[in-house]
Amino acid sequence: MLCSKCKNKAVFSDPRLCSQHFIAYFEAKVASTIRRFSMVSQQDRLGVAVSGGKDSISCLYILNKLFPGVTAIAIDEGIKGYREKTLKQLSLFCSEHNIVLKVFEFRKEFGKSLDSFVAGLKNKSAKQKGNLGSPCTICGAFRRHIMNKCARKLGMTKLATGHNLDDEAQAVMMNFLKNNLSLSIKLGPVVGVISSGLFVPRIKPLYFCTEKEVMAYAFLKKLPVALDECPYAHESFRRTVQEALNRQEKADKGSKKALISNFLEFLPLLRERLKESQELSFCENCGEISRNRLCKACSIAELLSR
Ligand code: SF4
Repeated sequence: MLCSKCKNKAVFSDPRLCSQHFIAYFEAKVASTIRRFSMVSQQDRLGVAVSGGKDSISCLYILNKLFPGVTAIAIDEGIKGYREKTLKQLSLFCSEHNIVLKVFEFRKEFGKSLDSFVAGLKNKSAKQKGNLGSPCTICGAFRRHIMNKCARKLGMTKLATGHNLDDEAQAVMMNFLKNNLSLSIKLGPVVGVISSGLFVPRIKPLYFCTEKEVMAYAFLKKLPVALDECPYAHESFRRTVQEALNRQEKADKGSKKALISNFLEFLPLLRERLKESQELSFCENCGEISRNRLCKACSIAELLSR
């Protein structure tokens, strides 16, 4: 199989491209997403949320190439045997590319590691646990909370994440299936419907790149991607939805792209419709933006402390 642009051997089938042309195609796709949604301006101080996986490392690498001087922000959740390794690799990568890396810990921000919170859940009744069925529920809320607070304290005006097309398709489906449509207004390539100095707007430069494309890019660029999987990943609802969408994509190619293009058509309408319910209010405990008396992270921390 030959590259559709030259006579070299193709390393990717859709689009059919050789290594050199695939890298150029991928980087151009990311740059065009950034331009199309005016994700970054000259004045922006750019932070990149990194976990060490293929998506965040690729995102960090490309953004640092396009906008030298980005800051990488990582979270140490306290997942034994997993996070230490990924942080070590990440730290090496950042020092090789002259990228400042800032690491923030669950332990310092919330008093305990994720492992300790999860272990504590085992002694609780179903009623005490509430909706904390999966470690990812705790992890996701705490991560978002720390990321926003710390990016703001570091003076970042935008925070880029490595979400790809597959991630976004999963999030759209998950919100539909859990009857959480209102949460979908936080999706999209640029997140920041709430205009407040407390919220650092999020951008997703890999929004239109499929998981396979990101994987190929990270491999071809020899980026040091953490291959270990989080030990809690199999317990997540996201995994169930991911498998279902992959089956659908196999049966009907282009399903994920179609889901995202339809979602983008109706996202502005959804945001308009839910604008009033998004009035700015603040968490009674930490003072961060919240739609309820307590923000998600503080309400989970309260549940865990009972
Ligand atoms: Fe956190 Fe779940 Fe991701 Fe593990 S898989 S890092 S617990 S969100």
